[in-house]
Amino acid sequence: MKPGRWIAALLLCSLPAAAVAQPAPARYHAQIDAEAAKVLPEVVNWRRDLHAHPELAFQERRTADLVAQELGRMGYEVTRGLAETAVIGLLKTGRPGPVVALRADMDGLPVTEDTGLAFASRERVQAGGKEVGVMHACGHDMHVAMLLGVARVLAAMRGQLPGTVKLVFQPAEEGVANEPNGAERLVKAGVLENPKVSAMFGLHVGITPQPTGTISTRARGLMAGGDTFEIVVRGRQTHGALPWNGVDPVVVAAQIVLGLQTIVSRQTDLTVAPAVITVGTLHAGERPNIVPGEVRMSGTIRSFDPAVREQLLLQVRRTAEHLALSAGATAGVSFDAGYPVTWNDPALTAKMLPSLRRVAGARLLGDVAPSTTAEDFSYYGRHVPSMLFFLGVNPPGADPAQWAANHSPRFNPDEAALLTGVRALASLAADYLTGN
Ligand SMILES: [Zn+2]
Ligand SMILES: [Zn+2]
Repeated sequence: MKPGRWIAALLLCSLPAAAVAQPAPARYHAQIDAEAAKVLPEVVNWRRDLHAHPELAFQERRTADLVAQELGRMGYEVTRGLAETAVIGLLKTGRPGPVVALRADMDGLPVTEDTGLAFASRERVQAGGKEVGVMHACGHDMHVAMLLGVARVLAAMRGQLPGTVKLVFQPAEEGVANEPNGAERLVKAGVLENPKVSAMFGLHVGITPQPTGTISTRARGLMAGGDTFEIVVRGRQTHGALPWNGVDPVVVAAQIVLGLQTIVSRQTDLTVAPAVITVGTLHAGERPNIVPGEVRMSGTIRSFDPAVREQLLLQVRRTAEHLALSAGATAGVSFDAGYPVTWNDPALTAKMLPSLRRVAGARLLGDVAPSTTAEDFSYYGRHVPSMLFFLGVNPPGADPAQWAANHSPRFNPDEAALLTGVRALASLAADYLTGN
């Protein structure tokens, strides 16, 4: 524990009990729960309709039409046209206060559905020269339906809330190769401005096989940041029998592979956050008796803390360049940034956990292990305090070991979780706006 944390812990211990007690449930919580129950049949209908008609990244036109139409009916100010298909809904209460943003991603995946559901997708697209199915295999249909439900709940409570609600229906979380994904484009297009977002919340169904209605999250890094690196080691080609006439990049590359493995094991404070460096490709030479001129390798870096990530990038570059230099070779290092770390703002998470506890009770897991998967919700968290949580969708009694996870053609999230998701997002928004 760092000294600062000791002091904070001491301060907490010495405060009178009333100062740290959780606030009593506000009167509007009963209304949230009642409105959520009321809109639930429609949430289920929206979800099944969206599930039967999934659309790939940046092509979510039918989905966006449905969302815009429903938001318009509920009295939201609707903006379209950002990042191709995004729909932004604004609910202005007319009273001063913060701006809370909630996000749902809208895209499906090129996966051929195998759930046997009555409302299973029959959509097909051409991909890579062959026909493939399209499926909401990541549960984004659930996300859109739940956020529409939340929109209805918050619209019904407009008279009691201060500030502004900004609903972000985002394209292309799954992304398209070599293109910025939906969240990155929306941030660039100014989705967090006008009005300026004070805090942002989102959820993802599944990810781990938690039972239906479980809410799990953690402060700090919830999901990994992933960066790809490529290293080109250049030596000087020579005959394999006369290595002193050249510079052997194969031996240098071998040193670099081992050197990279000492970054996590010897140079990273693993009590702050875990990290992974993997070299996945290594290409050198054509013949046993020729020292080649260059070697190419590439790999991935997974990290859970933005500061640790910055450090890892520096260390990979330094290790490769200096090991090459020691042999008279050079190493060109380049990085391709993937999704950033999905960072749950610690202060915001601590403040909002009681809201999630009110909704999920004992089914709230407030400090789960981080997930090595990645999410483009992370782009919002780079600019505004944000928090993402996972919503369990594995039916009661189902064996977690048999769970067909997100992206599986048999991914079949339990609709019984929809009510929990609507209550949770609506409560986070209302409690944040009122400061409860
Ligand atoms: Zn996904
Ligand atoms: Zn997803």
